[in-house]
Amino acid sequence: MDHSSSQGIQRTGPAWWVRFGRTHPWDYTAAAERLWLAIALMGAAALAFSFVDIARKSANELLQIIGWTSLVAIAAAFPIRIPRSKHSIVTGDVLVFLLLAVHGTAAAAIAAGIEGLVGSARTSARLSSRIASVTSSAASMTFSGALFAVVRLWLEASGLPHGPAHLMALAIAALAYLVASTMGVMQIVCLKRGAWLSLTDWYRSTSWVGTLYLFAATLAGLLSLSVRQFGASASIVGVGVLGLALELLRSHFHHLNLEHQTQEARVAAARLEAEQNQKRFDSAFAHTSIGMAIVSHEGIVLQANRTLCALLGRDEAHVLRRPFRDLLHTADVVLLDRHVRRMAARREDTFSIELRCHGADQREIWVSLHCALFDDRATAGSGLIFQVYDITSQRRVDELNHIAYHDHLTDLANRTCFQERLAAAVERTRCEPGFSFAVMYMDLDHFKATNDSHGHGAGDELLKEVARRLRLSVRQEDLVARLSGDEFAILLEQVQRHEDVLNLAHSLLQVLAAPFRIDGTELWPQASIGITFSDLRDRAPGDVMRDADAAMYKAKAEGRARFAVFDAGLHSELGDKLQLEADLQRALAEQGFTLVFQPLFGLAPHRLLGFEALARWTHPQRGPIDPAVFIALAEKTGCIGALTDWVIAEAAAQLAGWRKQAPHLDLAIHVNVSGNDLSRPSLVTHVRDVLQRHRIPPQALMLELTESTLMERREPGLRSLVELRQAGVRLGIDDFGVGYSSLARLSTLPFDCLKIDRSFVIGMQDNPHNVEIIRAVLSLANSLNKVVIAEGIETQEQLSRLKQLGVPIGQGFLLGRPVAADQIQELLRAPAEVAG
Ligand code: C2E
Ligand code: CA
Ligand code: CA
Repeated sequence: MDHSSSQGIQRTGPAWWVRFGRTHPWDYTAAAERLWLAIALMGAAALAFSFVDIARKSANELLQIIGWTSLVAIAAAFPIRIPRSKHSIVTGDVLVFLLLAVHGTAAAAIAAGIEGLVGSARTSARLSSRIASVTSSAASMTFSGALFAVVRLWLEASGLPHGPAHLMALAIAALAYLVASTMGVMQIVCLKRGAWLSLTDWYRSTSWVGTLYLFAATLAGLLSLSVRQFGASASIVGVGVLGLALELLRSHFHHLNLEHQTQEARVAAARLEAEQNQKRFDSAFAHTSIGMAIVSHEGIVLQANRTLCALLGRDEAHVLRRPFRDLLHTADVVLLDRHVRRMAARREDTFSIELRCHGADQREIWVSLHCALFDDRATAGSGLIFQVYDITSQRRVDELNHIAYHDHLTDLANRTCFQERLAAAVERTRCEPGFSFAVMYMDLDHFKATNDSHGHGAGDELLKEVARRLRLSVRQEDLVARLSGDEFAILLEQVQRHEDVLNLAHSLLQVLAAPFRIDGTELWPQASIGITFSDLRDRAPGDVMRDADAAMYKAKAEGRARFAVFDAGLHSELGDKLQLEADLQRALAEQGFTLVFQPLFGLAPHRLLGFEALARWTHPQRGPIDPAVFIALAEKTGCIGALTDWVIAEAAAQLAGWRKQAPHLDLAIHVNVSGNDLSRPSLVTHVRDVLQRHRIPPQALMLELTESTLMERREPGLRSLVELRQAGVRLGIDDFGVGYSSLARLSTLPFDCLKIDRSFVIGMQDNPHNVEIIRAVLSLANSLNKVVIAEGIETQEQLSRLKQLGVPIGQGFLLGRPVAADQIQELLRAPAEVAG
């Protein structure tokens, strides 16, 4: 290669020299070139001297020298490379030093020159380098050889035995060879850069070669000593053994190299795999449909993918390198912090929560956040990977579901939810033999009264409180539901013993009865509970509910504030009742009711005053049904309103006719109204309408209410009574004396008339106490300015006694049984002379 255009020194002289200078030492400085030339010349001289010297040797020795030198050349061509190092072991060195020790400096110098030549041919294409290598080796060996001879002589002269003197001189020669052969060449390299070789640099880069030289020289020394003792064959054996040892070493290094290569290949494959993984992760991270963020342990977003930015409606710049908490709804920041801390404390790796994020437009976004911990090498802490799914719509569905399955007032399960869970429980009893459950059906006692007297707000508070108490009293897995109004139900699954359920019912009643303050008044909530167990027999869910309900009615009938368990007997009663309920509804729709009228008489003088209208229902199959039964049924099923309205209208129509027939009698009609009617605003308008339609003066109508109904009610339940009374309608308290009215209360009630209960009239003869009661009622009514009626007069004695006592009005079988309207005519025409 011609480097004439490159930098370098301008050479003058013969053409071949200039050409050589351009091609080979083209980058040499003048100083480098001078040194190179000096070395080359010295080497050439050394070689020349050596060849001349060698030529004088015997043919046998010459042959040996040529043999060893050839081996040196071969060894130099195949150095043993040390794995993972730039060094190699040139095995020929031992032979070079052996030649020095056995055959003298000239042989060693030629061998060193040849070793240098082969070595440089392997490593450099430049002729200048190769020349430098050959000549420097030859010259250095000539110098070292001379030193070796001198030192050995001196040492021996100093009294050291031949062996050690020989070895030591060789070692010194090896060191001298190291210095001479390396320093010059290295100095050329330095001079090319215009620098001087520093001793440390030299030492650092030649220490390995020095070691080898010393080792080779010592080995060669030992071999040469054994040659001296045992003849040339010893050197052949020695070199043979050495060759074998070196071959083993070479093979070992080769093996190491192979291993290293496989290792490297593995590392490379692993690195490739890691890179591939990184790429895959990056691609997955970027393109996944899940929002992802990598967050440092200080909570700063290091990486966020497109999906996350899209989900939050923000661009990357508003997400990256910002605190992750800034993306969250303020109220949920603490929640996330708490979970992260807990994960760390429990040494867990992941957690999932649901929380809210801020969208760009301050829109609330519900997300499911999955957090995983990872070792963040970059920050030497643990970072967090967040996976974020948008669950806003799912959440809305959940909310709707919650609404669909929960009662908005108490947040208990609602009827639908209860029915579904009950259906599942029923199904489970069919496929899982050991499984059992119980249902409690609960109805608050007198809830209506609370509602009426304290208002709906108070009623709601009471319901909430009851719900709270129930929830706290049952096990976690039990389902408490509000079915409607003041009806609750509890589904208890996996009940071990009936007794446990009864105990629970007992404690529920106690828990409920604890006082509850509202509007400054104390209330003692009460409930009636019906219980049924799944092991009774196989029933459809609807039947289970019906049975629990029946048991609850039994509890009510037995006096409320208690529980009752459903049994088979109740079942047949219930079947009847159900049928009756249905029939009652039909009778109402199909005008299946009739009225009978029982006369009321003024006792002194005896005079017809009017009638009490009493409803009658003759069942197509069962015949006449007791009014006490069908009235209670109508109250329960909610059709009492319709019945009352019909009775009022029908009775008024009849009265109108009779009043026309016998205007002088100024007849009145008494109609029974139930407690449920009072909360019905339509009652007042209906009464007004009817009176107007039939042109009946309002005072000709008396509405009778039982004492207990009145006592259960407060304002505003009594508002309709007040309105009716203001309209002129008269009001009477029925069955008076059995309801334990307080006198104080009685004086505040809007009524005109007291109807003494039949039981007092019946008991008059046997129990003088009853007489006293009647007397007391009379004086009370007097002082309150109310009229008194005695009902249930069956005998002449009773009538006389009542008259004696001064009861003004009477009613009873003795005076007249309840009869159909067409039988009243005679009564009007010829007012019967009843004995009296
Ligand atoms: P009540 O209002 O006390 O009606 C009087 C009841 O006593 C009637 O029974 C009547 O037949 C009965 N009675 C009258 N005199 C005598 C007597 O001397 N001896 C005996 N043993 N009984 C006598 P009834 O018709 O069976 O009615 C029972 C209850 O049913 C009534 O008691 C009333 O509370 C209720 N009731 C009847 N009709 C209606 C109605 O149209 N509406 C409402 N809400 N309740 C009604
Ligand atoms: Ca009555
Ligand atoms: Ca009565």
